Amino acid sequence: MPAKHYKNFDANQLIEIPYKIDGFNFNTQNLEREYDYIIVGQGLAGSCLALELTAQGQRVMVYNDPEGNNSSRVAGGLINPITGRKMVLTWRVHELFNYLNKFYKKAEIKLNQKFYYKIPIYRPFISVEEQNEWQGKSIDENYKPFVKEVKTCSESDSVVSDPFGGLLLKQGGYLDTNVFLEAANNWLKSTNQLTNKKFENDSINFIEKVVVYKGIKAKKIIFCNGVAEVDSDYFSEIKFRPVKGEVLKIEIEPSLKKVYNRGVFIMPRDGNHTVGSNYNHKDLTWKPTEKGKAEIETKLKALLQTPYKVVGHKAGVRPSVSDRRPVLGMSNKREQLVIFNGLGTKGVSLAPFFANQLANSLIDGIEIDKEVNVNRYN
Ligand SMILES: Cc1cc2nc3c(=O)[nH]c(=O)nc-3n(C[C@H](O)[C@H](O)[C@H](O)COP(=O)(O)OP(=O)(O)OC[C@H]3O[C@@H](n4cnc5c(N)ncnc54)[C@H](O)[C@@H]3O)c2cc1C
Repeated sequence: MPAKHYKNFDANQLIEIPYKIDGFNFNTQNLEREYDYIIVGQGLAGSCLALELTAQGQRVMVYNDPEGNNSSRVAGGLINPITGRKMVLTWRVHELFNYLNKFYKKAEIKLNQKFYYKIPIYRPFISVEEQNEWQGKSIDENYKPFVKEVKTCSESDSVVSDPFGGLLLKQGGYLDTNVFLEAANNWLKSTNQLTNKKFENDSINFIEKVVVYKGIKAKKIIFCNGVAEVDSDYFSEIKFRPVKGEVLKIEIEPSLKKVYNRGVFIMPRDGNHTVGSNYNHKDLTWKPTEKGKAEIETKLKALLQTPYKVVGHKAGVRPSVSDRRPVLGMSNKREQLVIFNGLGTKGVSLAPFFANQLANSLIDGIEIDKEVNVNRYN
């Protein structure tokens, strides 16, 4: 029996229709609710996917464990076209940035909330050689859309150490992830598409081509559960390599007008400033540590030239995989199981584009790119 679409569905007027799927009798007393997809997890992956699927006319039920590790709530939210010590273009930056810009703007309208901010990013050079290199690169067609200016001497108002000048980037910005997730949570709740509870794999009933979970029937379950997926058997082939990170909240007077990025990023956000991050593959607890704080502060002091005060400290574990590419697609063991994970260190930039790719694959059968397809592990 194919899943139905309920365009103006109200979960309070639930169906009491008895029906049968090949050999399986649903209890007529059960209140069956029918959706196209169950989404497990409401971090960046689950939220962007819910927005994509519903925009394409699908009905979703999102389960979110309020106690679960939620890397998205810790994230700085930075959207940066040029990253890393070597200052390289973000992988697939042109496609990702083009899509995310439209996606978050549309989401702001739908969710009636402001959370997407465009802001210049300034990356001080570490040497004259680097400065020269960027004077050449800035006219390269690939880099041009993201380079606002190559500064060959220190900015007059510079609050950071930049003796060799620096690279001023455009098209960067940040997502206030907490505001975005809260707005998505409220919208899902108000449209009867949210259960703020932990999803339990043991309660899934696989029936022919559908699944039934605690009275909810759907075509597929899509796991957007971040690092929690490491402990599941459904996609045991994925080579996860989770990495913990910590962020500090600091006060600086007056507030910064740009994001500064070298070793760490310093970003004006929520009336304060977020500073991050570090990378730890060994300690995978969600607890902030003194060691992590000291590591970030050492880099912060090398960059920032004005006094600051630490007023907050958080930690999370990024759902990274060994080849550092997102992981999406259908399980080769059970066609009802789907994954959207592996967003690693750049979830804000990756989630919209690949949520769209996954939705197109589920709805229209469009093939998922090989390098991100979960079947690359088989
Ligand atoms: C310190 C730090 C700084 C970062 N900074 C940036 C940044 O500046 N820019 C950027 O792009 N990225 C950044 N990231 C990375 C970004 O946070 C991740 O890429 C992204 O959040 C991953 O999103 P996700 O939805 O896959 O996972 P998560 O955000 O971890 O979400 C998973 C969700 O699934 C839920 N869940 C798990 N199991 C269940 C279950 N059984 N039932 C119901 N719900 C369940 C969890 O509760 C959680 O809500 C940072 C990460 C960290 C830790």
